Amino acid sequence: MRARKLSNEKEQLVTEAKAIQIGVPKESMRDFIKEVMKMPGGEKILECIQCGSCAGGCPTIFAMDYSPMQIIKMINLGMKEKVLSSSTIWVCSLCYTCATRCPRNVDFPTLMMSLRNKAIRENLVNNCAKSNFHRYFFEVINKYGRMHVPELFVKLLDITNFNSLLRNVRLGLRLFKTGKLQLRAPKIETSWVSSMLEKTDQE
Ligand code: SF4
Ligand code: SF4
Repeated sequence: MRARKLSNEKEQLVTEAKAIQIGVPKESMRDFIKEVMKMPGGEKILECIQCGSCAGGCPTIFAMDYSPMQIIKMINLGMKEKVLSSSTIWVCSLCYTCATRCPRNVDFPTLMMSLRNKAIRENLVNNCAKSNFHRYFFEVINKYGRMHVPELFVKLLDITNFNSLLRNVRLGLRLFKTGKLQLRAPKIETSWVSSMLEKTDQE
C-alpha cells in the first residue's frame, strides 16, 4: 500500500516536472491536463514535441477549426473550453494516420473519443451534425441493443430546414418502399450493451 502511494507520488512529480519543462501553466496543469492524462488516449500528452507530423497527414484537417497539433498544445496549456467546444474532436474521422506517424506515440484518435464523451458530459459540445449523430447513435444503441435506423433517422431530421426535411423524408420513403427501412424496433437483450457502453465510457 505504502509502496503504491510512493509510486503515485513519484509519478505525479515526474508529470509536474515534465509539464513545467514544456511551459504548462501550473494551475491549469492541476486540473484539465491531469484529467486528460487519465483518459484513454491521453496518457502521453506531455510527450508531444509539436513536430506537426499528425497535422501534416490528417485527411480531414481542412474541416477542422484547430489542427491535431494545435489541440495537443491547447490541452497542454489547459484551454479546456476551447478544446471541448472545438469542431476538431468531432470532425476527426478516427483514421489513425496521425497515431501511426507520431514519433511520441500520442494516441490522438482514442483521445478524440474520450474528449467527445467529456464534451457531452460537460455540455460543451460544438453543435455540428457529427456531434448530434454521435449522441443519437449511442442513445439508440443503448435503447435497443442494436441500430434502429428509423428512430435515428427521425432524431437527425432538421425540422428548421424545410428543403433538407423534404429531401430526407423522400429518401426515407424510398428506403421504406425498397424494404431497407424496417419500422419494427429490434428486440434483443440490451443489458450487456449498456454495460459495454458504460465500460468504454460512451455516453
Ligand atoms: S505527431 Fe505526435 S509529437 Fe508530433 S505534434 Fe503530433 S502529437 Fe505531437
Ligand atoms: S485520426 Fe483524426 S486527427 Fe488523426 S489523422 Fe485521422 S482524421 Fe486526422
